[in-house]
Amino acid sequence: MIQTNFFFRHNRRRFLKDLSLAFGATAVGVPLASFAASCQSSGSEKAATQTQQTGQQQQQKLGIALVGLGRYATHQLAPALQETEHCYLAGIVTGTPAKAAEWKRKYNLPDKNIYSYDTYDQIADNPDIDIIYIVLPNGMHAEYTIRGAKARKHLISEKPMATSAEDCRRMLQACQENNVRLSIGYRLHFEPHNQRVMELGQQQIYGPVQEIEAADSFVFSGDPNAWRLDKELAGGGPLMDLGIYCVQGAIYTMGENPVAVTAKYGNVTRPEYFDEVEQSINWQLEFPGGARANCRTSYNQNEGLLSAKAEKGWWRLEPAYSYSGIKGETSEGSMELPQVNQQARQMDDFARCILENKETRVPGEMGLRDVQILEAIYQAAETGERVELKL
Ligand code: NAD
Repeated sequence: MIQTNFFFRHNRRRFLKDLSLAFGATAVGVPLASFAASCQSSGSEKAATQTQQTGQQQQQKLGIALVGLGRYATHQLAPALQETEHCYLAGIVTGTPAKAAEWKRKYNLPDKNIYSYDTYDQIADNPDIDIIYIVLPNGMHAEYTIRGAKARKHLISEKPMATSAEDCRRMLQACQENNVRLSIGYRLHFEPHNQRVMELGQQQIYGPVQEIEAADSFVFSGDPNAWRLDKELAGGGPLMDLGIYCVQGAIYTMGENPVAVTAKYGNVTRPEYFDEVEQSINWQLEFPGGARANCRTSYNQNEGLLSAKAEKGWWRLEPAYSYSGIKGETSEGSMELPQVNQQARQMDDFARCILENKETRVPGEMGLRDVQILEAIYQAAETGERVELKL
């Protein structure tokens, strides 16, 4: 049974107690409030046991196979997997033989752990692979996650989880039927400045949050045939790619789900790029207590902001969503927090959740919730109407 609003209904106090017993309050390295706010309760003991057995060849490190060796896999995930403690790069799935040869050499991968998209399903027979990480264009996440689940491997899908809520539900169902876990690549849940925002907002350290501003944009240039501009492969424009971070940021600031949304598309000034997907979009999320989040995303400017005003203070992250160099300040001064390898922490946490039979703080159900919100934002922009969310 899918419960998209589970994250904020769960018994937080009981979970905090369980968690501190399991890990010790600080060993997790994240604020417990944020961890608790995004956990859910179903388990998968059989799959966890299976994984413990198969991962033993690397001293309990779980083997990860990356599917799709594009920019994110090449420049972020593979290097991060050189720093992880509980998982390692065990295999790859690629359609490009030259990449297979290069990665084999660079990461010392055995031939038996290198797959093409045609041989992908044979990964079912490979005990070296415990987790499959889908890093393909958005429109391909559902197919490759479902095939991975049928191969009885745990899965991470990159954001957005899929290009429709219906696909997200199919992915969740496949994982449930095959008794494997599904997590989404929401790396910012493992980043100290964003974790501080979760504490400030959710614990109401400056009183209740009244207003949020979130913006994530970059100037898209280069190939006008890129998959990010293709409606079928991307699911939409900057909202699917970047705006999802604003939705996430607003929700983890509040610690609750929004109840309604209004939205408006921006003008198209570069039609040679934006004939299928939006160039920019602004939207407002309404929260149950009356707080509002004003959000914007665009492929036509550079921005990365997450800020909030509360009754007795304010805070601001800028840049808020980048891989490194995130900076924050509050009404009391600058946030002095470490820069970390977000992807290494994210993958290590999922591996540890599997090894220790704990729930991930960024589960597939959270990915579904967010895709439902993105769909509502598009509906609001298309119709000009306020759309109520039934999450
Ligand atoms: P990319 O274009 O650099 O890589 C995409 C990969 O998919 C390439 O290796 C390409 O060969 C392969 N591919 C297979 N079939 C394809 C097809 N039909 N069309 C196009 N490419 C195809 O993209 P990317 O930036 O690495 O993004 C991949 C995924 O990772 C996306 O879902 C994106 O949203 C996500 N992502 C997440 C983050 C993050 O911070 N969490 C950052 C960047 C990208």
